[in-house]
Amino acid sequence: MRTLITRIAELTTNVALDGDPCGTLVDAAVLIEDGRLAWVGAASDAPAADETVDAGGRAMIPGFVDSHSHLAFAGDRAAEFEARMAGQKYAAGGIRSTVAATRAAGDDELRARLRGFLDEMLAQGTTTVEIKSGYGLSVADEERLVRLAAEVTPEVTFLGAHVVPTEYADRPDAYVDLVTGPMLDACAPYAKWIDVFCETGAFTVAQSRRVLEAGAARGLTPRVHASQLGPGEGVRLAVELGAASIDHGTYLTDDDIGALARSSTVLTLLPGVEFSTRQPYPDARRLIDAGVTVALACDTNPGSSFTSSMPFCIAIAVRDMGMTPAEAVWASTAGGARALRRDDVGIIAPGARADLVLLEAPTRVHLAYRPGVPLVRQVWKDGVAAG
Ligand SMILES: [Zn+2]
Repeated sequence: MRTLITRIAELTTNVALDGDPCGTLVDAAVLIEDGRLAWVGAASDAPAADETVDAGGRAMIPGFVDSHSHLAFAGDRAAEFEARMAGQKYAAGGIRSTVAATRAAGDDELRARLRGFLDEMLAQGTTTVEIKSGYGLSVADEERLVRLAAEVTPEVTFLGAHVVPTEYADRPDAYVDLVTGPMLDACAPYAKWIDVFCETGAFTVAQSRRVLEAGAARGLTPRVHASQLGPGEGVRLAVELGAASIDHGTYLTDDDIGALARSSTVLTLLPGVEFSTRQPYPDARRLIDAGVTVALACDTNPGSSFTSSMPFCIAIAVRDMGMTPAEAVWASTAGGARALRRDDVGIIAPGARADLVLLEAPTRVHLAYRPGVPLVRQVWKDGVAAG
């Protein structure tokens, strides 16, 4: 079955073209065959197809690649959010209340929650989602979370080192022994990535190094939560260990930025966190101008960012972080794909997965220009129209 989508007013391919990283084509068409893109080009040159979809002069972008989420959890923390909005400060320790709720939940409850989030994200244009564990913090519970996550995405991250659980509060190094030993043994078969929360109140640089090196020795590629609440050494550790991504990066020094710019490590900005914790936004303009590769992701989690909307993050990135609409759309598609080291998503090119978003708008600029408006008209995942 060959499906042609034609009369696309503005097509963001993310295949760089004449100095345009977004590879923008006007009056374009794409051909889908067997879940992949078979052809991309001018509508006037379109090949024959079994079925034709008229895009009606709307804009199309690649499906969003959300490279950072914590969807495997139970409960919520609306009361904590309400208290924070009334002036209480955010601290990493709130994670422990979600750990208690998650441990108490059954597999089917967690599974239903995961599928619900993925449906919610797909409806908003997200076709690739990374999911972290980190609300189990025992061998059995972390194994359960990565196993359930692996049922719904290939992008599974083992984050046993999310926070030190209450029962190890006085013995953090013993907890790191557990994470790098029996917990890693149980989780590695389901995971592709290893992650650690390298931050005051979570794990030290020395502990983070142990976690990431142990994961790497089991074939898991590092990614790092760092510099969310203040400056630290997490970025340099991530770069040194060849991490795919360092995430948050709200407080970066000039040295951090220089090291990132010279590395292949992507900086994943998570503006939903700054929004929901009333922290200052990172200066994405400074990062991009310095040559850092930037991705945008939602960091969907019940504590610090309970949005799953990439368009919302794009709007913030443009309004408050100095990104252009084109840069923000690139960062939330191709940038996310770089952060996950994927070359088959985040782009619209022959051979790539047919993960496509048709906007109820003539240009991608509307994603930032019309914040809060549901502009996703139709989504295709692996060539199948969703909804
Ligand atoms: Zn996170």
